[in-house]
Amino acid sequence: MRVVLATHNPHKVAEFQQIVQQTRPDLEVVGYDGPEPVEDGVTFAENALLKARAAAAHTGLAALADDSGICVDVLGGSPGVFSAYWAGQKKDATANLELLLDQLRDIADPHRAAHFTSTIALVLPDGREHVVEGIWPGRLAHEASGGGGFGYDPIFIPDGQPDGAERTVGEFTGEEKQSQSHRARAFTALVPLLAAL
Ligand code: IMP
Repeated sequence: MRVVLATHNPHKVAEFQQIVQQTRPDLEVVGYDGPEPVEDGVTFAENALLKARAAAAHTGLAALADDSGICVDVLGGSPGVFSAYWAGQKKDATANLELLLDQLRDIADPHRAAHFTSTIALVLPDGREHVVEGIWPGRLAHEASGGGGFGYDPIFIPDGQPDGAERTVGEFTGEEKQSQSHRARAFTALVPLLAAL
């Protein structure tokens, strides 16, 4: 059986393939090159469902799509679904994180709580829909550090690091991030659903 992943990002296809391999080696995850819907949802779940429904309709296959972002408590959960273009439609990752740091310039550590969210939608050819979510809690740093990862990684300090370390995800190895990220947590929630396909 084949599952289409509604993303044009080859890294995400590879990540999903690894997860699926562990539970259903007979499932083949394929990339998607069909039309992409306008992401006009106001929640991660709505946007993930929009993408998965479009891919399921276009291909006739079971479809997976994810939507993710960073949510800052003191900003009422923003940037949230606007994470990719917080500083404007250009999707400039450095401008996005600089704006966020600037907005929180005077906010002290106890009030800098934030989390990454990854929401994955699974839409089946018979119309059944499932949504799972992974949350990675932490707080915002005062300045960017580390060259790893992407997006907001250099300014996000995950909770519960060994020996009380306070590294940003930008300072994590790829393996470290992969084993505990919001996306990894959402994948874990997806496994029983894939196993039941
Ligand atoms: P998308 O779901 O790939 O479109 O991601 C939305 C936006 O959220 C990205 O452009 C990043 O700004 C942010 N984001 C999502 N996941 C991560 C992550 O793992 N690290 C850093 N930023 C992320």
